[in-house]
Amino acid sequence: MKVTEYFEKTEGKTLVSFEVLPPLKGGSMQTIFNTLDPLMDFKPPFIDVTYHREEYVYNRQDTGFYEKVAIRKRPGTVGICAAIMHRYGVDAVPHLICGGFTREETENALIDLNFLNINNVLALRGDARRFEDKFVPTKDGHIYALDLVEQITNMNNGQYLDKSIENGSSTDFCIGIAGYPEKHFESPNFELDLHFTKKKIEAGASYIVTQMFFDNSKYFDYIEKCRDAGITVPIVPGIKPLTKKYQLNSIPRRFFINLPEDLVKEVSKARNSEAVRQIGIEWGIMQCKELKERGAPCLHFYLMGDWETSKKIIEATM
Ligand code: FAD
Repeated sequence: MKVTEYFEKTEGKTLVSFEVLPPLKGGSMQTIFNTLDPLMDFKPPFIDVTYHREEYVYNRQDTGFYEKVAIRKRPGTVGICAAIMHRYGVDAVPHLICGGFTREETENALIDLNFLNINNVLALRGDARRFEDKFVPTKDGHIYALDLVEQITNMNNGQYLDKSIENGSSTDFCIGIAGYPEKHFESPNFELDLHFTKKKIEAGASYIVTQMFFDNSKYFDYIEKCRDAGITVPIVPGIKPLTKKYQLNSIPRRFFINLPEDLVKEVSKARNSEAVRQIGIEWGIMQCKELKERGAPCLHFYLMGDWETSKKIIEATM
């Protein structure tokens, strides 16, 4: 089923969904199942699986010189989606990114997904590669998520890159996109960021999943700004529980978001790691209860390998 159909059918009830990362190369599918098994009682209608572009690593040669090699450290997104659908009978949502794909490779990936009956995708530009200070598109690949959304919509209309294909079979992808309650860090201002978000909706995307936030007012303000701008699609809040003291710096640095003063004060005062985790759980419960009360269609948890914290938050919220 399409992600948006779940939202239509909830009749105001808030759903719970999850995002998992593929294991590092050499890891096993069991680690994903170990993360998801304890959460399936919450009946998530869909589970997202992230996509990770190749990274450059430098291998030392016998000669003493270093060789630059591109490797994908977390492959397996599509296989994991198929395995999740097979084991749990829920929909899996692969993240599809621009980086690392030519248009042709994107088309072929979409054909694979379609043949596997995976009919939901989250269309993204992708992060910059490690050690690169900005996103570098692949030759013959897309520059913005908007271009990717347009390609998927074209396939939904039976249009393939090869114009000689007539009466091509139409795919039926439900397209989600990313949204930033605290603005995308590269955008010069909020209005322009929203302008491009709206363009993605006009191009065929039908829901938004937000970047994580720790201050609910950012999410509620974002919804208001989206509605004012004429963006009417469901906006799903992304939830990431804070569990470690070092995240006070690593989360803002990595995700370009702010942490509320009260949370920072409490975590800074905490005496040990268990106390930090407890503060993160209580903060998450407070956030989720309010989001639920105010009608969020779904609480989307970024698990990042830690299912226990999210489980505690959901148990106290739902
Ligand atoms: P875009 O929509 O392309 O926007 C990027 C920037 O360009 C923005 O500043 C925007 O305002 C601007 N812009 C957009 N369109 C245009 C245009 N036509 N002309 C000029 N400017 C434009 N990354 C991964 O690598 N893998 C993942 O699995 C992944 N999952 C994610 C899931 C969620 C829910 C979120 C919120 C992010 C995820 N990311 C992932 C990170 C994401 O790829 C980065 O945030 C990336 O920097 C931007 O992606 P986007 O799709 O929002 O890009």
